[in-house]
Amino acid sequence: MPRPRILSGMRPTGALHLGNLMGALDNWVRLQDQYDCFFTIVDWHSLTTDYADPGPIRENILEVACDWLAAGLDPSRSTLFIQSLVPEHAELHLLLSMIVPVPWLERVPSYKEQQHQLSEKDLSTYGFLGYPLLQTADIIIYKADAVPVGEDQAPHIELSREIVRRFNNFFGPVFPEPQTLLTEAKRIPGTDGRKMSKSYGNAVYMKDGPEIMRQKIKPMLTDPARKRRTDPGDPDKCPVFDLHRAFSSAQSQAWAAEGCRTAGIGCLDCKARLIEHMLARLQDVHARRPEFAERPDTVWDILLEGSRKARAVAQVTMDEVRAAMKISYPRP
Ligand code: SF4
Repeated sequence: MPRPRILSGMRPTGALHLGNLMGALDNWVRLQDQYDCFFTIVDWHSLTTDYADPGPIRENILEVACDWLAAGLDPSRSTLFIQSLVPEHAELHLLLSMIVPVPWLERVPSYKEQQHQLSEKDLSTYGFLGYPLLQTADIIIYKADAVPVGEDQAPHIELSREIVRRFNNFFGPVFPEPQTLLTEAKRIPGTDGRKMSKSYGNAVYMKDGPEIMRQKIKPMLTDPARKRRTDPGDPDKCPVFDLHRAFSSAQSQAWAAEGCRTAGIGCLDCKARLIEHMLARLQDVHARRPEFAERPDTVWDILLEGSRKARAVAQVTMDEVRAAMKISYPRP
């Protein structure tokens, strides 16, 4: 029996950080055992917000792909591809745009939120409004059974389901409704205590080696109550402890919590133990990454092969879609 199919994607923002690893990638690696996985680098999506200054998308794609492969995404089990190399996504996006009422897109929570958060950019564009529609096309063109997402993305999948129902209602049952595969949210703070994010400049990257990691973690913000070594602290108020929760053994977490509350350890001791665990967790990633980073042609070959496989699936779906929408005729 074929395994259920899932699809998920990441924008080509460049090297991935530990928030990306623990919030999504780690889960994707595990999902490969159970699902027929399609993972895509969504380059068109990055243009929905960064059209005025797209940055080095080509180089960023390579960085993301190296991190994916170093983390353990396996091209012999999963289809790894670039969105824009499967132009059928754009065709399906266009066809869906014929049937989706504009208010459905305007009411997606992230539409107003991101316009507010990114107020320095003009996001009153057609492409930005249509971003969840393009995302729907990305998913349903592969007839994905489910989409692994965090809670913040769940409304987008709900919208995808509504769009599928509307499409199937007009044109017949072409698409299954994709389900949400909720990824448990782990809080991964950056070095300043805010959510880890490239744009905040507080990120620790997957490829950061021991020296860079020490340089970033040592000055990291801690519980402000611990002004002196002798002041007891509260691990629940400390972002370093959030990282212990994500990376350290239960034994080290208990050691850090007890030592913090009793002022039995200093923050530098606590951070040194954390760094050991982080480096142990990243050992395989660090061992594998140079194999790919030093052979960019091999990485591109993997992405091109994945894009070919993905395109073959997307083309079959588009034949069905065109037939259902009565625009199926001989093609030049
Ligand atoms: S001892 Fe550890 S948990 Fe406590 S404040 Fe310092 S760094 Fe944070």
